[in-house]
Amino acid sequence: MRLIMLGPPGAGKGTQAQRLVDRHKIVQLSTGDMLRAAVKAQTPVGRKAKDIMARGELVPDAIVVAIVADRISQPDAKKGFILDGFPRTVPQAEALDAMLAGKGLKLDAVIELKVDDGILLNRIEKRAGETHARGEPVRADDNPEALKRRLAGYYAQTAPLAAYYARKGRLSSIDGMASISQVAAEIDKILSKLAGRAKAARPRGRQAGTAAAKAKPRAQAGRKRKSAKSPAKSAVRSKKASSRRRPRTAARRKRPQRA
Ligand code: AMP
Repeated sequence: MRLIMLGPPGAGKGTQAQRLVDRHKIVQLSTGDMLRAAVKAQTPVGRKAKDIMARGELVPDAIVVAIVADRISQPDAKKGFILDGFPRTVPQAEALDAMLAGKGLKLDAVIELKVDDGILLNRIEKRAGETHARGEPVRADDNPEALKRRLAGYYAQTAPLAAYYARKGRLSSIDGMASISQVAAEIDKILSKLAGRAKAARPRGRQAGTAAAKAKPRAQAGRKRKSAKSPAKSAVRSKKASSRRRPRTAARRKRPQRA
């Protein structure tokens, strides 16, 4: 399964993606996490991204596209993945389309979490408070100033992706202001509907891959094998039977008639 979680910062993409990872045994690919790891490790990408991220602006497309291209080629992404925080611009979405097409893969769904700005600010403040309480460093961009810029960037550059994926028939939008479990249930509903549709749309030949359809060719093969073996045997059997029958008939004919 290959999914995209779309939504503004603080919408709960990461929380829901994590749950889907456990449920579907696929990997979560968060470009934000990857970039933060690069910043921490002070790699060349991390050094380029550090200040841009702290300001709440978007890292250049070429950098994130290269990171994602590399990541989805790794063996653990073969079974599927959830992209969280990518794509964030139309050129990134186009680059992703090209990446997937080059691998003969397709996107299964894009799930958009819709959340009002006021709620996002509360969530970001709460996340920063909880991180601080755990004694962990608070994200440089989890503050009202950076959030304002992140939101402005989201509406200008990322929100148009909803229309982009709606045109492709891939978009499902959910009320991201419901509880975590309600949002999770909605996502599950969407995914099982998609799975059902995919199954129904599979051509009959492909459905032959199912257990029921496999049973038919096996039965035919069985019959063939039997008849392939049997011609010689059945010829012998019928020869024996006819030779057994003929004397009996002859004997019956020769039997003297009672007076
Ligand atoms: P996130 O953890 O998804 O909120 O991302 C944190 C920050 O990482 C963003 O504000 C951007 O500066 C940067 N970032 C993450 N993903 C992308 C992306 N797809 N394109 C550009 N910048 C990104």
